[in-house]
Amino acid sequence: MNPLRLGYILLLAGILSTTVVAQKVLVVGVKRPETCAFATGPLIEDLKDVSFPKDWRIAIACTAIAWKELQRKGDAFATNTAYTNLKGRITILNGAIYQQPLPLRGTTRRTPKNVLRHELGHIVCQCGDEDKADHAAGFSDSAWLALDTPQIHRIFHQSSPS
Ligand SMILES: [Zn+2]
Repeated sequence: MNPLRLGYILLLAGILSTTVVAQKVLVVGVKRPETCAFATGPLIEDLKDVSFPKDWRIAIACTAIAWKELQRKGDAFATNTAYTNLKGRITILNGAIYQQPLPLRGTTRRTPKNVLRHELGHIVCQCGDEDKADHAAGFSDSAWLALDTPQIHRIFHQSSPS
């Protein structure tokens, strides 16, 4: 893996947002983060509602070529929107979802925010199962208790019937 080839730029979401504290957004395929603002802008907004674990990383493919490259690295050709590497603690997003008309085509997740929720679902259930990920993502009122271990623990508020 040679991420430098993609023009890997590290962007601390925390600098741009007070509520997203430590998540790191990697802008892939562009030389300057500003070039990817069409995606990072709405992404950082969405991350205020969809709470990924604090230390999670999100890589966003800012060009079609970058997305193809990241698909290849992740062997993730089944998706055109996003995938999550639980071991690597990283979620890869296709920046194109922020340019396409809604509802998104070719996926049951109709908006970029729902794509994020679904990927978060994989993290919550710690599984690759699509249905379980959707189910886990449905608990919008869940709270994170992220420990310094590979395991992520979750607490569901009882006030959140789904
Ligand atoms: Zn999935």
